[in-house]
Amino acid sequence: MEQLAALQEFLQTPRNIVITTHQKPDGDAMGSSLAMFNYLQSKGHNARVISPTEFPAYFGYLPGCEEIWNYLDNPNLSQIAIAEADLIICLDFNDLSRIEPLDVAIKANTAAKILLIDHHLYPKEFAHWMLHSVKASSTCELVFEFISMADPEYVPTKEVAECIYTGILTDTGSFSNGATNKRALQITAFLLDCGLDIIHVQEQLNQNGREEKLRFIGNALSRNMIIREDLGIGIIIVDKKDAYRYNLQTGDTEGLVNFPLSIRNVKVAILLKQEPRIIKLSFRSKGTISVEKICREHFEGGGHRNASGGKSFLTIDETLEKIYAIFEKEKIV
Ligand code: 5GP
Ligand code: MN
Repeated sequence: MEQLAALQEFLQTPRNIVITTHQKPDGDAMGSSLAMFNYLQSKGHNARVISPTEFPAYFGYLPGCEEIWNYLDNPNLSQIAIAEADLIICLDFNDLSRIEPLDVAIKANTAAKILLIDHHLYPKEFAHWMLHSVKASSTCELVFEFISMADPEYVPTKEVAECIYTGILTDTGSFSNGATNKRALQITAFLLDCGLDIIHVQEQLNQNGREEKLRFIGNALSRNMIIREDLGIGIIIVDKKDAYRYNLQTGDTEGLVNFPLSIRNVKVAILLKQEPRIIKLSFRSKGTISVEKICREHFEGGGHRNASGGKSFLTIDETLEKIYAIFEKEKIV
């Protein structure tokens, strides 16, 4: 691992920089990428955000969002940009499998330096520089720290402030979950002095949705939620038919997994989402229960102690049986 001071030196010269983040980016992935993009562009670098997949349309308010490339839409151009990059900045993920199919192009550019900024458990070693802390509320918090270290005189613009705040807000569940910390609140207070408009972000994130999405949530909660109080778990299932019926868009299931946790005896909430070839799993837990361990050991995934994800190659019913067996055997709850 190289010293971050060497990176500061490296950034004294205008560079070709590719910024990337995990598949189906969430608020922290989008916010950290665009905060970094807006900052680096203002410093004279040639920066480009490339997402491995599509991203939720409701993040369209983030400054610079219209300039993001979706790798799946344009693999050839993306591969050229990655091949020409001097520096590749990896944000909000801990393992190159989280950026498939873009990982191949990154591995091919052996001349480029890699910077990883992340807060997930157990980061793999693929970067030359790493700013990593599992105690950070969000990658956006760490991007703020990175910019402050690299450029102590810099005052975030309103645009950069909005990006950083979005990641802090979404990863802390609006300052309510276990990721919430003092630093996140301090940074938010500072960003207010930089022109951050909290109401604008709230309107964009929570008051700008589609009717279909709200009806989908109602249907999922009333018809597709299984509560197993004996095991301490609540499961919501989203199958392909629902996705079609409600015209689900990328990001529409964001936050849905949290609902079962509102029930007193549910300690772990799980979302099963049927995708074309796999079932994508989201886990959330209360207190000290580690869903990260469950995802890592049983579902080829990982994340944070109280919020993790993974995948299953079984059917929905087989996946349910597997989950029940894990909770029956290991007495997790
Ligand atoms: P979500 O349930 O919101 O998709 O993800 C919760 C957390 O787990 C996020 O921090 C996300 O980055 C991580 N995560 C989700 N899916 C996976 C996965 O398949 N592998 C790993 N390593 N992490 C995941
Ligand atoms: Mn994050």
